[in-house]
Amino acid sequence: MSINTDPQIPGVPDAAWIEKLANELFSALPDETPKPVLSPHLEDHPRMEKMLNLIVPGFSKAPAAPEGFQLSDPQTSLADPHFADGKVPPSATGVGVSPAGAVRSYTPSPQDIKPPVTAPAHPFEVNESVFKPYQFDHRQEIELKHILAAISNFEKLPQIPANAFHGADPAYYFLQNTPQPITQSPGVSGFNVDLIRQDFPVFNERVNGKPLIWLDNAATTQKPRQVIDRVSYFYEHENSNIHRAAHELAARATDAYEGAREKVRQFLNARSVNEIVFVRGTTEAINLVAKTWGDQNLVAGDEIILSHLEHHANIVPWKQLADKKGLKIRVIPVDNDGQVILAEYASLLSHRTKLVSFTQVSNALGTITPARQMIEMAHAAGAKVLLDGAQSVSHLRSDVTGLNCDWFVFSGHKVFGPTGIGVLYGKEDLLNATQPWQGGGNMIVDVTFEHIQYHKAPSRFEAGTGNIADAVGLGAAIDYVSKIGIDAINQYEHYLLEYASSRMQVIPGLRLIGTAKEKASVLSFVFEGFRTEEVGSALNREGIAVRSGHHCAQPILRRFGQETTVRPSLAFYNTTSEIDVLVDTLYRLRRGRN
Ligand code: PLP
Repeated sequence: MSINTDPQIPGVPDAAWIEKLANELFSALPDETPKPVLSPHLEDHPRMEKMLNLIVPGFSKAPAAPEGFQLSDPQTSLADPHFADGKVPPSATGVGVSPAGAVRSYTPSPQDIKPPVTAPAHPFEVNESVFKPYQFDHRQEIELKHILAAISNFEKLPQIPANAFHGADPAYYFLQNTPQPITQSPGVSGFNVDLIRQDFPVFNERVNGKPLIWLDNAATTQKPRQVIDRVSYFYEHENSNIHRAAHELAARATDAYEGAREKVRQFLNARSVNEIVFVRGTTEAINLVAKTWGDQNLVAGDEIILSHLEHHANIVPWKQLADKKGLKIRVIPVDNDGQVILAEYASLLSHRTKLVSFTQVSNALGTITPARQMIEMAHAAGAKVLLDGAQSVSHLRSDVTGLNCDWFVFSGHKVFGPTGIGVLYGKEDLLNATQPWQGGGNMIVDVTFEHIQYHKAPSRFEAGTGNIADAVGLGAAIDYVSKIGIDAINQYEHYLLEYASSRMQVIPGLRLIGTAKEKASVLSFVFEGFRTEEVGSALNREGIAVRSGHHCAQPILRRFGQETTVRPSLAFYNTTSEIDVLVDTLYRLRRGRN
């Protein structure tokens, strides 16, 4: 059973109705002052334990708080500052902080709650024999079924299994903010979207009174608790500048930072940590290559090949360089599905081609380019290759050694890590043969007024104090993704994309832009009779975040006769239920216009 948050769907109880019913039920129980159900903390209701005891004799709710703590008031708990009425309690804004010496509040931790006998205890430990992925009821749905049954037919109520209240979700809530589980099993094993979603605090947010549906993943991804906590931990326990001091915190910070570099190395399958340069993001990485290697090695008449799919970040630095040095930019065309035309690419390659720079996944259309083949073709012509991995790292396995690209670039925030941190991978010899870009501390071996000796890579490209904490956070994001498994992610997202495409392409007046056979994540479209901003705003009213605009990829949109599109984009924490809300909203919009 699902809690319906859309009161317009007939025959399914909506959230407000269930809340009202629960309040009526509690008020009807004798002897206690009614306390309205406003927040997700149903089990904290004074009458709840009593009622559950009627249903399951001996049932006991959350564990008692340890000595020195008191159970936090659900209405002021910092752990859950947003409530069904949309109000933020004063403590969340910093006004209601407990005075010194007050009893510390206590929210039961997952460890305090008895794990289910059969339910998976953790997203990465799915007991497949019992829980098929995407196919188990939420704990609160089980509760609700029995409450509703009790209202209509208390006598005949069946026994609730003892573990029913110790479901996979350790949080106490009544009306869950996250969307319902998807109902169709894509047959992906070892992956449980409901459990994964619990790692992302942002999914407790409501937007315009609706549960947040984040379909703007190509712009940036949401962060799991593990990343948020790791960055906080750094500032609480390790914060120091790196490499340059002999004290304990400098050692901790350096270990954490260099540990993150090793995680990136493994994630990309690079040969050495010396090939991993921390930068601000994809944009800075491409600029770095253009303004170092490009400036130092390219001469008038040389040619750079880009694909028509490129993000502005992979066009502007090369155009600036071309204008400065008299280079020629050539563009690989795409077909009407948005796929690069390899025969045309082959005909552009020549001895004049010094660089091919292209994206592995298009941010505007979702096209996956045949990177391995394109790299081979470029190398056969004697050109170097930069692969833009901004849109691929979160969806596909990255293998810089297998792909044999010369540079690979990505941003941490696109792969569930922090903003302001990204990576330039470069082959070690190539990096060491390239002169630095920015000068300053950290990148030199020795400085006199007459002579400067630079470090080898990666330090030679990391002048000044970098974004240490967020590099560490990126390491945590990589751990997170690796634990779920990029192949499981890829398989699940493929299912989601097919589901979304099949539902969207039959909506009257909707045209998908970008229909490549090999696609990832992105569902760009235009909707006849509507401006893209109008669609974006209508979706926002339903709590759905999508991008509408040119996506910093004007050339490819113009290739399809568009200045802007609406662009939902998926990640592994999205569900088919969310896609259903998107599709239903688009249908409603259509009906309103007809
Ligand atoms: N390249 C591609 C394919 C992108 O999608 C993006 C951002 O959307 C970028 C480059 C630029 O990334 P950033 O803004 O994180 O530097």
